[in-house]
Amino acid sequence: MENKTAPECERAGELMMKYMDGELTEREILKLREHLEVCPACKEDFITYDFIHEELSQGAGLISPPDGFVKAVMTKVSALPSPKKIAAAAFDTKLRTLWAVISALFGVAFLLVWYKDPILSYMSGISWLSGYVGAIIPAVDRLYGAAASFFSNISAFAMTALDFISAYKYVFFAGFCVLCGVQFFISRRRAAAGKARDKA
Ligand SMILES: [Zn+2]
Repeated sequence: MENKTAPECERAGELMMKYMDGELTEREILKLREHLEVCPACKEDFITYDFIHEELSQGAGLISPPDGFVKAVMTKVSALPSPKKIAAAAFDTKLRTLWAVISALFGVAFLLVWYKDPILSYMSGISWLSGYVGAIIPAVDRLYGAAASFFSNISAFAMTALDFISAYKYVFFAGFCVLCGVQFFISRRRAAAGKARDKA
């Protein structure tokens, strides 16, 4: 696989843009084809460009893109991250969405637990709801009990963790310093090894 920053690839990129504008000479077509045969990365680019070009030219009967438009689009396209990076970003977005949903649910649950009594008394004040509220209160109580113990467990855990950290902060700090020192020596040894290799 060729390196995408190789001069041949750069040249092929220019030829692709000229091809999209229909400005390639026969010799340049041959050159481009030769490179695409040996360079899978550029070939993939070319297929993408060609697809977009087709899409654009299908609308050409109605509105033809202004001069240089294709070139501008291609420049943007070539600046796009590779498919692998796009997939990673999509995964990242999904993860972030999931996290947002979870924290929103968590927040709502927390508010419901915190404002249980006002909410219930408000609901029983609404005539058509009060019957239901009376019926569901035992179940709600059990649910709230579970939720409350969950939250109190979490806060107890957080407190314990904070206590632990504050009690041992000097130990943590010392450990951190040792780690930094070790990292420093490793990087120095690496640099020295690199220099020795350069000399050899
Ligand atoms: Zn290439």
